[in-house]
Amino acid sequence: MTRTAFVTGGARGIGRSIATTLGAQGFRVGVVDRDLEPARATAEAITAAGGTAIAVWADVTDTASVRAAVETVTAELGPVDVAVNNAGWDDFMNFVDTTEEFWEKVLDINFTGALRVCHAVVPGMTERGYGRIVNIGSDAGRVGSSLEAVYSGAKGGIIAFTKTLAREIASTGVTANTVCPGPTDTAMLRAYADSSPDGAKVLAGMTRAVPMRRLAQPADVAAAVAFFASGPAGYITGQTLSVSGGLTMA
Ligand code: NDP
Repeated sequence: MTRTAFVTGGARGIGRSIATTLGAQGFRVGVVDRDLEPARATAEAITAAGGTAIAVWADVTDTASVRAAVETVTAELGPVDVAVNNAGWDDFMNFVDTTEEFWEKVLDINFTGALRVCHAVVPGMTERGYGRIVNIGSDAGRVGSSLEAVYSGAKGGIIAFTKTLAREIASTGVTANTVCPGPTDTAMLRAYADSSPDGAKVLAGMTRAVPMRRLAQPADVAAAVAFFASGPAGYITGQTLSVSGGLTMA
């Protein structure tokens, strides 16, 4: 049976890889992003490879746009069977330098954004008796990360939220799991490195800290997401899986 996936932040980085991986596996994919042009490029890459995808604009901090995106994907590709909450953002600073405005922004994108999508898609999934929620957390949410106190809190919140949601809907055929990337080679990580006077040294230090001695590639994360999104993963729920080359073993 062909399923429909809704991937936030699908324009680039990890989200793009998740969208193209799901597209290659036969999912119809709604590539959802606040940046429409690169989202279109992702959707076109999926269709060029023989899959089915559309690009849809939404900002996960805006409830109306999230609901409109779910409606568009449902109308054009069918009801959402898989929702991947991947959109995320951070800026890097010591906690003492953060402001309440900053906390609100980080929480709104990284935490409440996932809640908004779940609120929009979970009732339909439970009604139809099938669904896969895959939330993108972070190893920062499991073990903490310097210069990312608020982001780590948001990602820790995602892990706890996912477990609770999983419990509430476990009997309905809908699963909810969290994938936690470690340092992954994307624009977000480059921004982190560039926030230091010696970015190359920061990246080298991060790589050394990973037991496998390499940064994650977006495809490494996408493989784990695709597993949780699959039909055969239906007996696995409320789990937190790190994809970090052995950095976090918990
Ligand atoms: P990128 O910054 O490379 O890509 C994130 C995508 O999400 C961008 O297309 C971005 O759009 C989009 N996005 C951001 N905010 C919103 C929003 N409010 N509404 C809709 N779309 C939005 O990040 P990554 O690919 O690196 O990160 C993907 C996920 O993985 C995030 O949740 C991140 O926290 C998590 N993660 C990443 C790690 C890493 O090392 N890279 C490590 C651990 C977790 P725009 O370009 O406009 O900002």
